[in-house]
This record gives sequence, C-alpha cells and structure tokens, in this order.
Amino acid sequence: MTPTPPLEQNGPRRTGAVPRKRIGDLIIALVAVASLAILGAMIDTLRTAYNDVELRAEREAHSLLEASVSHLESQLALWDLSLKLAADIFHRDRFATLNADDRILLLSNLATNVSFIGSLLVLDRQGNISLDPMSPVRRTGNFSDRDYFLAPQKADVGTFISQPYRSRLRNHDPSIALSRRITGPDGGFDGVVMIAVRLASIRAMFDDLDPGQRGAIAVINAAGRVLMRHPSLDGSGDVDLDLSASPNFRRMLAEQTGSFSARAVTDGTQRLYVFTTVPGTDLLVSVGLAENEVFSGWYRRVYFTIAVIVAMCAIALLISLRLRAELARREAAEAQLAKLARTDPLTGLANRRVFEEFAERELRRSRRTDRPLSMILIDADHFKAVNDRYGHAVGDTILQLLATVMTRHLGRPGDLGVRFGGEEFIALLADTGAAGAAIVADRIRQGFETATSQTPNLDAPVTVSIGVAELTARMADVPDLVAAADRALYRAKASGRNRVMRDEETAGPPEAHEGGRREA
Ligand code: GH3
Ligand code: MG
Ligand code: MG
Repeated sequence: MTPTPPLEQNGPRRTGAVPRKRIGDLIIALVAVASLAILGAMIDTLRTAYNDVELRAEREAHSLLEASVSHLESQLALWDLSLKLAADIFHRDRFATLNADDRILLLSNLATNVSFIGSLLVLDRQGNISLDPMSPVRRTGNFSDRDYFLAPQKADVGTFISQPYRSRLRNHDPSIALSRRITGPDGGFDGVVMIAVRLASIRAMFDDLDPGQRGAIAVINAAGRVLMRHPSLDGSGDVDLDLSASPNFRRMLAEQTGSFSARAVTDGTQRLYVFTTVPGTDLLVSVGLAENEVFSGWYRRVYFTIAVIVAMCAIALLISLRLRAELARREAAEAQLAKLARTDPLTGLANRRVFEEFAERELRRSRRTDRPLSMILIDADHFKAVNDRYGHAVGDTILQLLATVMTRHLGRPGDLGVRFGGEEFIALLADTGAAGAAIVADRIRQGFETATSQTPNLDAPVTVSIGVAELTARMADVPDLVAAADRALYRAKASGRNRVMRDEETAGPPEAHEGGRREA
C-alpha cells in the first residue's frame, strides 16, 4: 500500500500532549534521583554513626587505659615505698639503734601488710639470701645471676624493675622483682633488698576491667616482655610472650603515648589501640578494643540499611519500569487506533473523515489567502461489472492500483488523496485552480488506464471518470464543492466515461479530456 505524504504533512495532528513514554522516562528519572537522594542521606547518617561509634570506643579505651595505669601506678608506688623503707631499715646510719631482730620484725610486718608481695629478701654482696623475713623457715639461695641483683650491684639505680622470671624459691611462679641497692657504711655496695611480685597478682588487679571478648589490656616492659595480658591468651598470664619484634609494640615504644588502629601479631585481630607509659617506669600499658566488636552494631545497621535501600530502589524501579512500559504500550495502542480511525484499510490512504477535516481547513485557508482550491472526484467506470467479471478480490487489487496511481500524481505538499468510499476517490489540491487540477486529473486517468492495460489477467483496461471543481465564492462549504465535482463527474459519466470534466460554474474555458483528447 502506498503511504499518503499529504496526510503526514497537512493532516491534523494531536498537539500539546506530552508523549507518555516521556512521562515514563520522567518517572524513572525522578525515582532514580529520589533513590540517589535517599542513598546519599543514608550514607551520611551511617558515616556520622560510624564516627560516633569510633569516638565512643576511643573514650571507652581511654577510660580503661586510665584505670589500668592508675591501678598500676598506685601499686608500684606502694611497692616502691616499701622497698625504700626496707632499704632504709638496712641503712645502718639511720636505723643504728635497731638490732637484727627488730629489723626482721619490721620487715616482716611491712611485707605481710603490702599486697601482692610474693617474697621480700635481703641479699648479701654475693647474692645469697641474708634475710628472708616472710618465710617461717630459713631458705637458702643465690641470686647473683638475676638482673635485679646485677643492676643495683653495678650502680645505685634507685628502684629497679626486673624482667619477668620464674621464681626458684616459689615453685617457678612467674614474677617480677623490684630491687634497691643497699649501701654500706663505707658508701660501697652492701647487698640488695628486693620484693618479688607475682605476675598473677598483677593480672588480678585488672580483673574488674573489661576490654571485650576479643579486646586486650597488656602491660609490657621496654624490652617487649609481657608482664600481663588481660584476658590471658594461654590461660596462665602470657608471661613468655615476647613482643619485641611486633610492629605494634615498636610503634608504641617509639610514640610512648597515643592511639592507632592495627592488626595484632598475636591473634590477627584488628584493634583500636590506645597506650601510654606508667610514669616513672619503662612499662607500657596498652588497651586494644577489637574493631569487629566495636563496630558490630554499626555493621548490622549498615547491612540492614543497604538491604532496605536496595529493596526499595528495586521495587521503585520495577514499578516505574512497568509503568513506563504500560504507558508506552497504551500510547502505541492509542496511536495505532487513531491511525486506524483515519486510514482506509484497503488502500492505506487517508479516509473520508480525514478528508472532511482537511477540506474544511483548506477551504478556510483558501478564503483567507485568496488562493484557489480544487477538487478531483474519481469514480471507477463500470466497476460493478469489473467485480462481476474478475471477482471481488481482483476488484480490490484494482482499487489499490488506483490509489497508487493517484498518489503518484499528487506530489505537492498541499495535495491530499483519500478514498471517499467504495470505488470513489478524491484528491484535494491546495493552491491549484481548476485548469491545473484538470491536468493532474487527466494524468491520473491516463496513468490508471495504462496501468490496468498492463495488468495481467485483465481482458481490457479499467478506466475512471473524473469530475473537477474549483472552490468559488458562491460555494458555502465543503459539500458544495463536492457537489460541484460530483456534477462534473456525472457529466463525464454521461458523456461516455473515461474522461475528465470540469464543473461548469468554475471560471475559465471549459476543458475536458477523453482518452487524451480534448473534449469540445
Ligand atoms: P459507473 O460508476 O461507471 O456508472 O458504474 P459502476 O458499476 O461503477 O456503478 P456503481 O457506482 O453503481 O457501482 C459501484 C460498484 O463498485 C459497486 C461495487 O460492486 C463496487 N465496489 C464498491 N466498493 C468496492 C470495494 O471496496 N471493492 C470492490 N471490489 N468493489 C467495490
Ligand atoms: Mg460509484
Ligand atoms: Mg463507478
């Protein structure tokens, strides 16, 4: 079927309406923007929550650290004081009036009243036990190999804190010792006074502090030896733990006080560490909170939020996609329906309804612009007989051929060809007078005759009769113009068919064409 350019160009159109597919796109865009906005807001909220959690964790770690350090500091001060007192008791100048028994009594009282002391010993110049006030039976032993003896022996270093060791007197109990040099009357080295502190008892001081299941509080000396770790990794105080090679320990040692987040070499846990030194000692206290414990609530919130957002966006997107598809489908269906309502199904030409709208508009335009408007009314000759002879299907094909021929001769933008009904067609030619229209009409007539003469299975060419009329001032509306064309057509039929006749009222010399000849 041949399309009809005039309908595309001049036919009335739907105007003003936004295409529904565009509305669908708009909805999707809005949903996308809304989703992004929600996502942005959520990310912001989560980030704020993360910072809050981090801040709270840091505060908690710091309060644990403060508590740990103050526990340790006060206990160390007490031990230090005891040690100084014990050393003073042996300083013969100051306690010259005391005899040996008084001294032992004093030391015994001191040792038993200060908490966590495992033993209090006085060692002579060779490192042998010279006094052991806490033991009911006299113990013997030489500790000249221990660092708590060697360091004060070398010089008066004040209170010396030893490396952790396993006690030879107390069944290998893990301990540290605090020792002081005893200075003789001549000012020389006269032995060492020491107190041994059970590491288990140091660890017990931290029992009431809770760094979480995977967190840790540790007291480490400058050599990287762990004095205590709470909770204990090996169940017995982690005395043999040496962290001297651990990057985290090295960093703490270098910075002395601070905080950072890192993975532990001991158990691979990522922790937030805060740490500081115990004043007056080389002991480091570190509190590490496991990040997966600290942020577990936050992670739950993140997963939940992501799930909700993804679900919401998916649902919104799905709904808007379906909406858009439905809108597009409806629009297409409506467009198809509208097209069908305006198209002749057999020939694909515009139908009579389009003709009426178009003709009405063109008539007004012609009046307004004072330009001519002509109509060509075509009627197939003896078409009843054609149908009778070849059958209705062939008749339909011939009508399609007529539509094609007509359309082929309507080249101008102002031309419209329609199927008016049955075997009748109309061509409306804007800006064209009757004389010009008659020429076009005759081309159609000739073209159709030629085409049917070349069509196989037809015994004889099929012809058309055509009436041509031009809009005149006396015509009131479109039906008047159709009537004028119809009168001309009647005359063409009456005078032998296969010819073009012009309406008599139309100005200009009467012209008729028959088989290419001019009619008188
Ligand atoms: P004439 O116009 O030359 O006076 O004779 P006619 O036989 O064409 O006369 P009339 O207008 O009375 O008949 C028109 C015929 O056209 C009637 C019908 O058989 C045929 N016709 C109308 N519409 C169609 C159609 O859609 N398909 C086919 N095959 N035939 C149609
Ligand atoms: Mg007819
Ligand atoms: Mg006819």
